Amino acid sequence: MWGCSVMPTMASSVIDLHLHAGPSSSASRWYSTELNETADEAQTRYLLDTLNAHSIVRGVIGGPPADVERIRSADPSRLIGSVAFPCSDGVDPNLFPCFKDGGDWPDLDWLSKEVDAGRIGAIGELYNVYAGVAPNDPRMWPYYALAAKHDLLVLVHADAGPPPEGRVEGCCADFDERLARPALYEPILTRYPQLRLVLYHVFRPDFVQEALMLLDKFPNVMVETSPMTLVPTPLVHSAINTFVEAGHEDRIVFGSDYWGAISGSLEVIESAHFLSEKQKRAILYDNAARLLSMDKN
Ligand SMILES: [Zn+2]
Repeated sequence: MWGCSVMPTMASSVIDLHLHAGPSSSASRWYSTELNETADEAQTRYLLDTLNAHSIVRGVIGGPPADVERIRSADPSRLIGSVAFPCSDGVDPNLFPCFKDGGDWPDLDWLSKEVDAGRIGAIGELYNVYAGVAPNDPRMWPYYALAAKHDLLVLVHADAGPPPEGRVEGCCADFDERLARPALYEPILTRYPQLRLVLYHVFRPDFVQEALMLLDKFPNVMVETSPMTLVPTPLVHSAINTFVEAGHEDRIVFGSDYWGAISGSLEVIESAHFLSEKQKRAILYDNAARLLSMDKN
């Protein structure tokens, strides 16, 4: 999904761990092509302008490999590439084609080489819910092993939504909301307890409780509360407050999920009056900087 406005919101640096890539042809309505500029170039320019406008100094961008690499390589010191899967019938939830071979899974040898070359530093968004594949499905384990071996980020869609009306038409015949529960990642984390795993979209109270269990047990699990412009703000604030009250203010990270939602998502964090300025900075920057080892650079 793609956003529509480039509006400066704040000056302090932000890290966005939830950005998506897609073909430029799918997003032409969001930007105009200037003279002598291809659609790909225009899209890349628009996206980097959007990051600049919101002081996003680092981000993780996931999606079909060709699109991710095209955008990441335009600003490799800012963007970390990620590969999203499993796909369904060769396409992702936006119906973008996933892999060159038309399959639903990234080739492991190819992925290893991309990791070694520094082009990919994460796997995800993991679309198990959309594809109807359980997180502990045997097909998933080689990727967790690779992530553990190379210390890749693992970014998971940990929400039972979106509801059918929120999905792209024609998406996800195998969608299975039962596969969204954060607790389903416990066996994976038990096997690889150091995994840097980010649970996307944790705002439902029952999922918040399951995420708390993982935060208590595993040191490198983080939570994120997108899509903050689509979920009622009191629900997002309540989730964040529950994590903070449980002593986990250092485990919440910022993710926008939609290019057009960056401004609104930042506002949701800024408007959380129960948070101190220090806690807001932790969510918007410090916690992710620590996760990405930027504080050691
Ligand atoms: Zn997403």
